[in-house]
Amino acid sequence: MARYTGPACRICRRHGLKLFLKGTKCTTEKCPFNKRGFPPGQHGKARIKMSDYGLRLREKQKVKKIYGVFERQFRRYFAVAAKTRGVTGEKLLELLERRLDNTVFRLGFATSRAQARQLVRHGHIHVNGRPVTLPSFTVRPGQAIRVAGTPEQIQRVRQTRELLQDRAVPPWLTRAADELTATVTAVPARADVQFPIQEQLIVELYSK
Ligand code: ZN
Repeated sequence: MARYTGPACRICRRHGLKLFLKGTKCTTEKCPFNKRGFPPGQHGKARIKMSDYGLRLREKQKVKKIYGVFERQFRRYFAVAAKTRGVTGEKLLELLERRLDNTVFRLGFATSRAQARQLVRHGHIHVNGRPVTLPSFTVRPGQAIRVAGTPEQIQRVRQTRELLQDRAVPPWLTRAADELTATVTAVPARADVQFPIQEQLIVELYSK
């Protein structure tokens, strides 16, 4: 059980791309990426020519940060993806999308994946009627996902729902009219991934 607790927007600056790790803060002027869009650190503004290895490494680090996964677990996803029939890079992204914390985030129950992870950790997410507290739990088509907890906790998720009301649910998920229950209807497709990712670079990095 591990998670990154350092400055989130520093990660976006490193990758030159807003990853919205801070949820709604990143949509406001407060996000440091707006003021300092260059990489962090003493040499942030220096022009550095990146090697092929550097580019591949960066891409992998970016995907890890987006989904809040560390190297060991990421490697495990890659190993499963490599063993599965089909395109390894696409399978890798599918597995990451199917994480329960990501699913909760994509359903708009939380403003960031980090917040979604906490909802799961604290037992506020039920899968098929039972609490699942493992953020890495892999969801499957047919499973029902529901927000549970005290009236105050439910209320908080309702407020988040209002805040995020114009954010669309991806085609592999269906949110019910009550806003707090949902069904996994399919396996996420490559097109359902939100960020520009060149997953082939990650496959190349690990295939050396
Ligand atoms: Zn930010």
